[in-house]
Order: sequence, then structure tokens, then C-alpha cells
Amino acid sequence: MNNKLYGNLIFELSQPGRRGYSLPKNRFGDYSLPEALRRKEDAQLPECDEMTVVRHYTNLSANNFGVDNGFYPLGSCTMKYNPKIDEEMAALPQFQNLHPLQPAETVRGAEAVCTLLCRSLCELTGLHAFTLKPFAGAHGELTGLMVIKKYHESRGDWQRTKVIVPDSAHGTNPASAAVCGLDIVEVKSTADGLVDLADLENLVAQEKDNIAAMMMTNPNTLGLFERQIPQIEKLIHEVGGLMYYDGANLNPMLGAARPGDMGFDVMHINLHKTFSTPHGGGGPGAGPVGVRQGLEQFFPEVSPYHGNFAVAIRAYAYILSLGREHIKEVGPLATLNANYIKESLKDVYELPIGGLCKHEFVFDGLKDKSTGVTTMDVAKRLLDYGYHAPTIYFPLLFHESLMIEPTENESKETIDGFIGVMRQIAQEAKDDPDVVKSAPHLTPIGRVDDVLAAKHPIVTYKQLIHDAD
Ligand SMILES: *Cc1c(COP(=O)(O)O)cnc(C)c1O
Repeated sequence: MNNKLYGNLIFELSQPGRRGYSLPKNRFGDYSLPEALRRKEDAQLPECDEMTVVRHYTNLSANNFGVDNGFYPLGSCTMKYNPKIDEEMAALPQFQNLHPLQPAETVRGAEAVCTLLCRSLCELTGLHAFTLKPFAGAHGELTGLMVIKKYHESRGDWQRTKVIVPDSAHGTNPASAAVCGLDIVEVKSTADGLVDLADLENLVAQEKDNIAAMMMTNPNTLGLFERQIPQIEKLIHEVGGLMYYDGANLNPMLGAARPGDMGFDVMHINLHKTFSTPHGGGGPGAGPVGVRQGLEQFFPEVSPYHGNFAVAIRAYAYILSLGREHIKEVGPLATLNANYIKESLKDVYELPIGGLCKHEFVFDGLKDKSTGVTTMDVAKRLLDYGYHAPTIYFPLLFHESLMIEPTENESKETIDGFIGVMRQIAQEAKDDPDVVKSAPHLTPIGRVDDVLAAKHPIVTYKQLIHDAD
């Protein structure tokens, strides 16, 4: 891209008096706004012709990295692939032009999508009923915890306010419990990354009748299947608590196991991670909540109408296009791909917890720590090779976390290409560490000072000019 011609900011391309369009003459006479409401000065808007505007934004969009440009191994963020047919379904005018207030008899098709999606989710999870209302995973957690709180209150168990959350949980788990007015009790992980059963037994013995629920993510944030669920479920249920399943990333489970069969009472699913819908940049999402029989009467009203309906359409299209036979392949393929990468790289990257993973796994930086090359450097260097960086410095259990998740959809060639580049970077770290430490070299913007960007964000054009002076 030629930055001189197309500019970094549209304001830099502005020419006084330049127009991209002309409005028709006003045929309605003078109806000026009252003086008091009018601007004292003209708005400071860029003045450009249409081609300049189109090229500017088109070139900007080409600087964006997305799953349509290349491999995106971001861990804990599952659904990167968004089949185009799902977009087509969501864009059908019969869906897109619906109004939430139009008469019920004219929206039977849309209602059927919601009903059938809920039925599919029940079947996939082994739970009894789903609500599509929550707008995101965290919103689903809140909704599910509201169900649990109401359930206990309906039984007069007002003192049940403690929610047990593993220390490896996604940050939204304790946050949702707090927003719901519940108290968080943290349970430790063992050295092999699973819930520490001895610690849990102690907590349960201490808290007993105060326990509202235990929240579990499975596979957990390290990509590990929590093998002690039967014991944990028994422990919690025996003292009258409920089991909550964080099913944000459900794809490793599809066709393999169901939370309902494991004894969970309430769960959420991130449709935008497991069943299509692009969710970069913070949205849109949907976090349907499922419950076992007898809890559905406690569903709260957490959004108007049917939540993010277009996300539900994409999810249903995804489920239908795979069908009953092929949806079973999602879990095994996601698991195979992650293990293939892990095993191919563990001689050069530090694998703190070995063994079989599910859909994702975590390295603790490069194996050879003597080079001084950090996880941040590796992530930046990947950009030079055309790859999106994995999730870094999360989970917090290790200092140099590098969390990789390929998903089920990538070809062997794509995955082999990524493995090759990761090995090459490990070699560079030995031979020429500075090239890795100063990466990226080939992106429009080099290494940024991300602390400065967070502490002193420049969000207005004026300030940019001023600072340049
Ligand atoms: C992404 C994620 C969430 C939160 O989902 P949002 O839609 O971002 O609110 C919760 N738990 C886990 C395990 C996740 O990966």
C-alpha cells in the first residue's frame, strides 16, 4: 500500500472544498434550525472525493488480519472458521428484515429456528431446556448463576452464596459470580493442571450449606479434560450445591461426551465459539443457557425478544450442515489437530503439562531460556511470517504462557506450515535472537510500546497533530 497516496488518516487526505457527492437543491424552502441549536463553527470533517475514500478504507481493511487471510491459532477463542453458508443463511432477507414487534403469526419460521436450535443444543449437551436470551458467554454465566440463586432461594436456602471457581478458570467466571451478588471461593489446581480434589474436599467441608454452586470449565483452560468430574459432582451435590459447566468452547466435546450426562445442572455455550459466527473485535455473540429438568422455571429475562437472533441462525446452519453423523467428528478433529501441533513442537517449546490435550494446550515459552527470547517476541515474529499470534500470557499459571488452538477446520498443510514457522523461530532465537526480539519487521507498524499505548492512548486527531509538533 502506498501510504503517501492513501494516507494513514482520512484527515491527511482532505482538500478544502473537495466533495464526493452533491446534494440536490433544497426544494422545501427555508427551515433552518433555531439559532441556539446551530453550530458556531463548521464541523471539522475530512473533504475527499469518493475514490480517495474508497481506496483509503479498502487499503486499511487489507491491513487487518482475519481468518480469511491466514491461520489464527488463538487459544481459548475456538470458533475462528465461519462457513460462508452460515453467513448466507443469516443474511436471507426473510430473516434480516424481520421486526421484533411484528405479529407472531408472521414470524413462525424464525421461531422454529429458535426452537429447533434449542432442541439440538439439548441433544448435544444432555440437558433439558435452553434459553437463547444471553448475548455472550459472560452474560450466559450470569444468567445461569441467576437460575442457581433463584433455585436455592425457592427452597429457602438464602445462605447459599458461595461459588467455587478453579484458579485456572476464565476471568469471567469469578466476575459473573460477583455481579450476581455471590461470593467466590477459589479452588487450587494440581501440578498436572486439574482441579485439586484434596483442596476441594477441604473447601466443601468448610463451606457445606453455604455452597451455591461449583463452576467448571471442561476441557479446562489448559485444554485438559477434568478426569475427576464424577467425584467432584458427587461432592458438591451431596452438600446441596449445583454444578455449573462453562461450555464456552464446546467443540472438543461434540460427539464425545455431554455435560448433562456428567451430572451438570446448568451450563452456557458460546455459540460464537463453537457454532460459527465471527467474533473478533468484541462481538456479536450469544451465550445460550441450558438447565436440567426442573430448573427451567427459574430462567430470568436477561434480554428482550430472542437475544442475538442472527447468531442463532448461523449456529443452527452450522449444526445442520454438519448433520448428525459429521458433528461427531468435530471433537476428535479439534483434539487431533491440537495434539499434532503440541507433539511436533514440544522438543523446542517448553510443555509444562504433558499428556493428551483436548482442543488447545499451553507452552511455557521456548525450551531454551538462555536466548532471552520471550513469548512476546515469538508472537511478534509470527506476524512477519503471516500468522496471527496465539493467545499469550494467559492462563496466568505460567510465566511465559503461549496458548495454541488450531480448531477442527484447518488442513494438514496449514498446520504443518505453522509448525515449520514455529520451529524456524526457535532456531532464529538461537542463531540471531535480535531478529526475534525486534520483530515484527514486515508489518505496517513495527513493535509498539504497549504499556505506553495503554497508559497514554491517543484517541483524537488533534492530539496526534499536537504531539507530532
Ligand atoms: C470466551 C470465554 C468466556 C466468555 O465468553 P464471552 O462471550 O467473551 O463473554 C467464558 N469462559 C470461557 C472458558 C471462555 O473461553
